[in-house]
Amino acid sequence: MSTSPVQLVPPVAAGPGRPLPLLVLGAGTDLASERGVDCPGQLPAASDPALVARARAARDALGDRAFVLGHHYQRDEVIQFADVTGDSYKLAVQAAGQPGAEFVVFCGVHFMAESADILTSARQKVVLPDLAAGCSMADMATYNQVEECWEALEDLGVADQVVPVTYMNSSADIKAFTGRHGGTVCTSANAGRALAWALSQGSKVLFLPDQHLGRNTAVLELGMGLDDCVVWNPHAPGGTGGLTPEQVRDATMLLWRGHCSVHGRFSPGCVADVRARIPGVNVIVHPECQHEVVLAADYIGSTEKIISTIEQAPAGSAWAVGTELNLVQRLGRANPDKTIVFLDKTVCYCSTMNRIDLPHLVWALESPAAGRLVNQITVDERTAAQARAALEQMLALP
Ligand code: SF4
Repeated sequence: MSTSPVQLVPPVAAGPGRPLPLLVLGAGTDLASERGVDCPGQLPAASDPALVARARAARDALGDRAFVLGHHYQRDEVIQFADVTGDSYKLAVQAAGQPGAEFVVFCGVHFMAESADILTSARQKVVLPDLAAGCSMADMATYNQVEECWEALEDLGVADQVVPVTYMNSSADIKAFTGRHGGTVCTSANAGRALAWALSQGSKVLFLPDQHLGRNTAVLELGMGLDDCVVWNPHAPGGTGGLTPEQVRDATMLLWRGHCSVHGRFSPGCVADVRARIPGVNVIVHPECQHEVVLAADYIGSTEKIISTIEQAPAGSAWAVGTELNLVQRLGRANPDKTIVFLDKTVCYCSTMNRIDLPHLVWALESPAAGRLVNQITVDERTAAQARAALEQMLALP
């Protein structure tokens, strides 16, 4: 997950009417199918003042026609151009609150741009600067897999007792599935309320796609036991998630076998190690971490909670933070009166979040400024309507 350096050549000056060299992204390929294509290394260095100046010029040229969203896990070189920073749900809501912004440039990953498209007006166009910026967790629950799971639950005669709850970090298809079956979306901040509501509607929850958030919330917030939770493995042979009918019937929480490749890296050993290195350190981790890591930590919280906890901490305190490295580094710079370290000794960025670099942002801004829209993310209206129902249910959570 560490980023590998990209070999870059000196900047090429852009000017009115001059072809933009940034359009070589995905050279030799169809730009419409850029997914998975690397920057070919022919772009100006991200830190080059000319590139920063180009981004600023394109941003200024678009003015109020554009609104740039920056997720907390984005690089500094990108986040400096964000009109607002936050987690995925907050950003999508902020975009919807800017109906005059024709172009919503989402510096984040694919499912976030989808959510923004679902919540914004038809007039607003959502742009993801690099189509390869996906999310490994969201990709762990595909529409077909989840439909097969539901059919298996129907065959077992339990589907009518099951309320699906999907984490914000899921595709529009999965949010739509959830809305269609009377469930709700949740964030890491409101997962406890979402589970409590779901269990007031049925006797079981199908929690998608992050097993760790589901387990941590069920056990630590709702007081369930670990044996109330079973893991549904969509890859297991037999079509019943690797579970026996009895296990499915007895469980309260059916946890989808998905995880975040960034937060899943932290181990109880990381916690023990940092406590040995920094006596008195406070360990704070995201609930996408494994249950054993959360148990070993002092605090657990969503990204926003981690930020506010550290901002409010007394000067001189020491913190080991178990979340994405860009955010941890930024917290360290913003709180020089505290000791703030990354929980793992190994560098661990979210590789897909880091796909959005300054060259891609410049491309995403200069293109509409030049009258050409690239990388628009759209969700079809039927899917969007069903997904919106699940998002609205989240807003209505008691
Ligand atoms: S940090 Fe994890 S959940 Fe977030 S975008 Fe990256 S892989 Fe997905």
